[in-house]
Amino acid sequence: MQLFFLDLGLFINRLAFAEQFRLNPLMSKSLLSAVRLTIILGYLGVANQAFTKAADLGYTDTPMLPSGKWHVHDPDRTKPPVVNSGATFSHGASAPSDAIVLFDGTDLSKWEGAKGAAPEWAIHEDYMEVKTNTGNIHTKDKFDDFQLHLEFAEPLKVEGDSQERGNSGVFLHGREGQGGYELQVLDCYNNPTYPDGQCGALYGQSPPLVNACKKPGQWQTYDIFFEAARWNENHELIRPASVTVIQNGLLIHHKQPLLGPTGHKTLASYSKELSDKAPIELQDHHTPVRYRNIWIRNITEDEKP
Ligand code: MG
Repeated sequence: MQLFFLDLGLFINRLAFAEQFRLNPLMSKSLLSAVRLTIILGYLGVANQAFTKAADLGYTDTPMLPSGKWHVHDPDRTKPPVVNSGATFSHGASAPSDAIVLFDGTDLSKWEGAKGAAPEWAIHEDYMEVKTNTGNIHTKDKFDDFQLHLEFAEPLKVEGDSQERGNSGVFLHGREGQGGYELQVLDCYNNPTYPDGQCGALYGQSPPLVNACKKPGQWQTYDIFFEAARWNENHELIRPASVTVIQNGLLIHHKQPLLGPTGHKTLASYSKELSDKAPIELQDHHTPVRYRNIWIRNITEDEKP
């Protein structure tokens, strides 16, 4: 729309100058006023568009992270180097005997939408696909500490930039309406965005150690090892949640503590006691990201051999 105004203004401008000697003075004045108005609208629109785009690449009006070096979603934060993964890593990994299969490609019986509604995401071949604008889905079961395997693929048709390209997410402990910890899913193959929001980031907190993203349309793997936050009998935090993540065979987080449930443009914190167990949640961020082969193993600290 903004570019339309600018183009229209410049077009009328050219027309006005071409015609200025043939139009009567009153009409010329009106036409030139229209020219000026459309050009101003156009420039305002383009400026707004540029500002919006720049803002999408990061923010500096956000709180500082505890390191004191970077803002939340800082555009200048050190960018993880791109590392090409091997062709496959845990792609198609069969579930171990003690795993709970959350999705084997056939149905969504282990999942539900908001307030227990049946999920509307589509199933094709051996994968599920985000049905945009139908909302997040989460597991019916809740988990404490766990090992999670899943595979995802970004849309082959590349649309949008930065956070608008292939956005989804895996909430490690996704609490409906109470927040969770988002491991970002995004198409970050040649798609700059703020480092703590790129694919593999613990959103708004920690960028991945490397950018391990494959091309759009290619299947990628996450192998996730998660330890929930712990609280004492006085409801005080005694251990933050932490996570280790391998993407396509590359370590992207190693025992990385989480600052608290994920927020946008805010500093995460443990402002209240969180339950030990919570579902796994997949995000509908309005793009048709695909998931397949999802299984999970409970890790029971108390029963260590
Ligand atoms: Mg997301």
